[in-house]
Amino acid sequence: MESVSHENRKFEPHPDFAKDAYIGSPEAYRELYEKSIADPEAFWAEAAEELDWFKKWDKVLDESEAPFFKWFPGAKTNLCYNCVDRHLKGPNRNKAALIWEGEPGDTRVLTYQDVHREVCKFANGLKQIGVKKGDRVAIYLPMIPELTLAVLACARIGAVHTVIFAGFSAESIRDRINDCGATCVITADGGWRRERVLSLKNTVDEALEGVDSVSNVVVVKRAHGDPFPCHYKEGRDHWYHRLVQDQPIDCPCEEMDAEDMLFLLYTSGTTGKPKGIIHTTAGYMLYTYLTTKYIFDLKPDDVFWCTADVGWITGHSYIVYGPMQNAATQIMYEGAPNTPDEGRFWEIVEKYRATIFYTAPTAIRAFMKWGDKWLEKHDLSSLRLLGTVGEPINPEAWIWYHKQVGAERCPIVDTWWQTETGGHMLTPIPGATATKPGCATVPFFGIEPAILTDEGEEVDAGILAIKKPWPGILRGIYGDPERFKDTYWCKWDGKYYFPGDGARRDKDGYIWILGRVDDVVNVSGHRIGTAELESVFVEHKDVAESAVVGVPHEIKGQGLIAFVTVIQGREHDDHLRKELVEMIDKSIGKFARPERILFSSDLPKTRSGKIMRRLLRDIAEGKELGNTTTLADPSVVEELQRQYEEA
Ligand code: ATP
Ligand code: MG
Repeated sequence: MESVSHENRKFEPHPDFAKDAYIGSPEAYRELYEKSIADPEAFWAEAAEELDWFKKWDKVLDESEAPFFKWFPGAKTNLCYNCVDRHLKGPNRNKAALIWEGEPGDTRVLTYQDVHREVCKFANGLKQIGVKKGDRVAIYLPMIPELTLAVLACARIGAVHTVIFAGFSAESIRDRINDCGATCVITADGGWRRERVLSLKNTVDEALEGVDSVSNVVVVKRAHGDPFPCHYKEGRDHWYHRLVQDQPIDCPCEEMDAEDMLFLLYTSGTTGKPKGIIHTTAGYMLYTYLTTKYIFDLKPDDVFWCTADVGWITGHSYIVYGPMQNAATQIMYEGAPNTPDEGRFWEIVEKYRATIFYTAPTAIRAFMKWGDKWLEKHDLSSLRLLGTVGEPINPEAWIWYHKQVGAERCPIVDTWWQTETGGHMLTPIPGATATKPGCATVPFFGIEPAILTDEGEEVDAGILAIKKPWPGILRGIYGDPERFKDTYWCKWDGKYYFPGDGARRDKDGYIWILGRVDDVVNVSGHRIGTAELESVFVEHKDVAESAVVGVPHEIKGQGLIAFVTVIQGREHDDHLRKELVEMIDKSIGKFARPERILFSSDLPKTRSGKIMRRLLRDIAEGKELGNTTTLADPSVVEELQRQYEEA
């Protein structure tokens, strides 16, 4: 592969930030990193001492059945204990754990003591209806405190949770429940989204038609049955408030083996049918604990806000498990970023004085599209660190984030990782790493990246690979060990983990993610990642977002089709097309001129907000569309199909 990027801006950590940071200099990072690579077992064992164990491990890493790695075999612990109980002993007992705001503006604050009580009651309620260690529990809830409580209650009793994002359809829920054989579903009568109530319970009822494994459904009253009165099935359904009302306020934690399954989570489905990723207890616990501490430089008085939904891995690792193990105070918000208006997020930052803000490039591009005026109305001076995750961030979006949100003061951590990796893998260390717009920079401790060809030769630009196992690594794909081996381990004969992304290393040794290997285009012999091409379009002042795909071309091998979204209120016409072509000519070269540029009001995205290039490719090639179950808004694709055929 080759790189066509000309991005070379660099931003040193602000001295005020670095001076108080856990890791405050490049030397401090290097020293710890080298230690973590020279003797990973010693490094992880030392870090593990910061957590609570019922019994210590016999060994740190067991590779005897690779790629089915075991971390901390012999140890016994409980993640809920480490997220909640251990904070009750000291000053954190009455600290706010969750500051929650509903979309209509209602609020709740739960201290760690409150969380402990509510989780114990919930856990006892689940036990009462027969949920046991090892049972799979599907959670289909809006972003309300009960979502976090449900996850922790499962972890407390050793039930395996599988959270399903509350925007998914009945069919998607059914597929997931059938795949893992869940016996219990936790849902709500509804949740607020864009001033409307999503009828979650009705969707669950529909999903459960013909499903035999589920014998209990717990229903949280959130939308008060109005305007969707919800059906109550005697014997199967239980109102949450009644179930927990008389439960004892204590519930012992199940002593879990290090490798007992903690949760199952289906990937976003950007590249195809979602995979049921398995994470287990001890390694995931330690990895989310340590990445949260160092990458967010999380301090006792921070107000942390990760805007993801708990339904994605980002929410598992950086709303529930990582921040709570670190006794963080965090903001949780139920609704849409543009309800009642496009300033909602900034209003929340101002209201609760958020200090750390972690979001996705898709959100950042939406904020840009909506315009700066929404930020200007609010005081964002409390912010001290920003983060992004989910997709490559275009340098122009990064610069906007840096200036408009971070006031050129806050470091930005561009965190590259996956559902499969459990936590951050490549990311700046905020007080130590000079950042570059659009670059995930350096590996976290214990992570040894390599950039390889298909044959396993090291190169500057090619396929990203990870050398050794780390504690947060997935332990399998539920029910399909062969697919697990094929997908992640066969590419280089088991020597490396294969994440499926392209990457390049620059002269400073920094790693840039170039996009997914499935999306790489080959134009006249140049193999180019989509991220860099798209970033050129986004540099134009009128462009908000862009997606580039390759289609077969007689002479070039592949020709480029560019889909471009313009900023609200700006013109999109042949003049803009001409300017965009000139930008490509100038920054890459004439060979990369797109065959066609299509303007659209939106792009097809997964429900987690990622661009689905494979569907754009299908549209451009006039093919039948592939798996569309994870698509957020099907009308976007229909519109593009129509436009494509007309143009
Ligand atoms: P599926 O595996 O089902 O196709 P998915 O890959 O979108 O879905 P996730 O685990 O949510 O599921 O996403 C991980 C992927 O997101 C990474 O492999 C990478 O392509 C992309 N990604 C995440 N963070 C970053 C980042 N900071 N920079 C670039 N890409 C990122
Ligand atoms: Mg993936």
